[in-house]
Amino acid sequence: MAGVVLKDVCKVYDGGVFAVNKINLTIKDREFMVLVGPSGCGKSTTLRMIAGLEEISSGTVSIGDRVVNDVPPKDRDIAMVFQNYALYPHKTVYENLAFGLRLRKFPKADIDKRVRDAAEILGIGPYLDRKPKALSGGQRQRVAVGRAIVRKPEVFLFDEPLSNLDAKMRVQMRTEISKLHTRLETTMIYVTHDQIEAMTMGDRICVMKDGLIQQVDTPLNIYDNPANTFVAGFIGTPPMNIFKGTIVRKDNVFYFENPNMEIPLPEAWKVHAEKFLSKEIYFGLRPEDIGCELAELDKNAPKIKAKIEVIEPMGAETYLYLDASTYNGGSCIARVDAHKQVKVGENIELPILLLKAHLFDPETTNILV
Ligand code: ADP
Repeated sequence: MAGVVLKDVCKVYDGGVFAVNKINLTIKDREFMVLVGPSGCGKSTTLRMIAGLEEISSGTVSIGDRVVNDVPPKDRDIAMVFQNYALYPHKTVYENLAFGLRLRKFPKADIDKRVRDAAEILGIGPYLDRKPKALSGGQRQRVAVGRAIVRKPEVFLFDEPLSNLDAKMRVQMRTEISKLHTRLETTMIYVTHDQIEAMTMGDRICVMKDGLIQQVDTPLNIYDNPANTFVAGFIGTPPMNIFKGTIVRKDNVFYFENPNMEIPLPEAWKVHAEKFLSKEIYFGLRPEDIGCELAELDKNAPKIKAKIEVIEPMGAETYLYLDASTYNGGSCIARVDAHKQVKVGENIELPILLLKAHLFDPETTNILV
């Protein structure tokens, strides 16, 4: 059993590019940690440094209680599952699973037991005699995972393992990997650019951007309290709406104001309201907190006035794209009841759930409240 600790870890590639810039991260024993962020944010480089496939420019990586900076990959007690499966095309599934163990000179009977146990866990028992080309994408991915399982490593590393699968298979494999984590009770570190995978699979999520960690927390804490506007926009679909406006004071009440909204701010936000009085500020609100049933029930709920640009019925709910004062000029999105009567071009007023709103500092983009 082992946790993984990254201390002041940097990776500088030739030409002085900081792919990873002094990150600190503690992954607990048996935890499922997801590294997520847009392409180029440094998540694969981080994983490859943990695996030993990439040299660490500075800082330390520890697995369990030993620093592994100078330990070769094969001696780190990790197993990695890659995006492209990396199966041997001319070997059978059985041989693909057994190969790594044979190299390590495991006894034959032990290899056979490990291969059959892994095949049983993953439901690939019937395919042990097939070659990879006679398998579907999902089955190949299971073999790739199986090859990691037979090793019984301290830490599993996954590098975008589902990105070659179709949408339906991705959802299925996602739950299978989660079940596997519960069953094997091992530390797993999983890299993805897909925030839905991150939300649904991670015990905790580490959001990265430009080689820096933006936030590390449980999926729900990140969703409810994103550290900055980047995280607010990256985690959650559709993303959090961020409105641009000014703080004004009328009759001793502070308001967030722009052409679409005049929102009285809670007393508890006074410190921030005073600091930003007459200045620009960002106001964040998730799509489900605009025009939702709870807000509709509250006669005194503040409202957003906006024009409907696009209506997207999703079945269970409908997304309304509104022409409101967002910070980047994009549409504001509201998730409303699927049967709400609305028309494109219509000017509407939608109540909001002020309890769920946030303020962000426009200069640092960090959350204020
Ligand atoms: P991610 O996995 O988040 O997409 P990577 O870790 O692959 O990002 O890359 C992080 C940054 O490092 C990117 O800017 C990428 O272009 C750069 N990079 C990755 N590999 C190399 C390399 N071998 N040489 C130079 N730059 C690289």
